[in-house]
Amino acid sequence: MNKLLFFLLICFAATSCVTTSKTTSTAQEVITKIVKDTVYVAEKRKKPKNIILMIGDGMGLTQISAGMYMNNNQLALEKFPVIGLHKCHADNDLITDSAAAATSFASGIKTYNGAIGVDRNKKPVVTILELAEEKGLATGLVATSTIVHATPASFIAHQPQRKMYEEIAADFLTTEVDLFIGGGKKYFDRRVDSRNLLDEFTAKGYQINTFLGKSLEELEMPTANFGYLTADSDPIPVARGRDYLPYASTFSCKFLDKRSPKGFFLMIEGSQIDWGGHANDSDYIITEMLDFNESIENVLEYAKKDGNTLVVITADHETGGYAIQKGSKMGEIKGAFTSDYHTGDLIPVFAYGPGAEAFAGIYENTAIFDKIKEAFGF
Ligand code: MG
Ligand code: ZN
Repeated sequence: MNKLLFFLLICFAATSCVTTSKTTSTAQEVITKIVKDTVYVAEKRKKPKNIILMIGDGMGLTQISAGMYMNNNQLALEKFPVIGLHKCHADNDLITDSAAAATSFASGIKTYNGAIGVDRNKKPVVTILELAEEKGLATGLVATSTIVHATPASFIAHQPQRKMYEEIAADFLTTEVDLFIGGGKKYFDRRVDSRNLLDEFTAKGYQINTFLGKSLEELEMPTANFGYLTADSDPIPVARGRDYLPYASTFSCKFLDKRSPKGFFLMIEGSQIDWGGHANDSDYIITEMLDFNESIENVLEYAKKDGNTLVVITADHETGGYAIQKGSKMGEIKGAFTSDYHTGDLIPVFAYGPGAEAFAGIYENTAIFDKIKEAFGF
């Protein structure tokens, strides 16, 4: 940036010197154009310090549309200037699951359904979270499922099958992840191998809190690496009283911002939009979608104030073959389903902040990793 300022100064001095003669007005125009182009290129190349990837599990265009029509025809997603589409298929199946899809986002490879941070040969692949740690950035994972569930797990663990929850929980200890918030306490402290991972985290210098003690809102901002377990197994749906995601989103941004001067990588998942799709339950989808919307609103507010944060929002796949039916009204959605599983539709991507332009267009889900890596400059 210093070089750019120096160049601008020279150009400014040059334009001042040549203003005396009429014949130099062309030279002045040329210089003005060079200055404009330089500023444009510099702005285009501006790298974000922080990147927040938000994943609405099972959040296809219908889930987004239904949430919008049930929310006075508006969503925080409308404030995102760049929109793209990704091809969500897995390596071995046109219909992906959350494990293969999240491994594609996290590591830039296609793999088989059920794979957690491993390739088609079950070999571990480096994740964007691990790369960020290696480069000295702070990192965090937030979910409304258990924290060892496929989506968050694929950013931090390496296991051949998604159901290996206890092995996945143990993998959390092999990284220096700064923050994790989600359910699944029992996979950490009531295990077949009788290890107590929460004690092991504490011994490593982490501050660990759970739903059994103070709520996240009641806690002072931690000054050490931090884990908060929000439920013993799966957190309840938002319609039954779960309320931590919007607050946890703001909290995580502010917390990670203090953890490293180099920036942070944060993944936030609205996990249960998918579960509403599997249950073919329109109300479940919409309430989870609007909870995720609040979380997006909060993250966007942080990113706007910060100015150096790129926010990327997408889904792993659509769930339910959900469609809005005839007879629906604004504020009253009649939904129908073609499946109780995931579908193969193209999935929208929304981007805001420095480096956002890279997310326009149509590309494979693996490109999400490539683009984040490129934006960080890794
Ligand atoms: Mg998920
Ligand atoms: Zn699913």
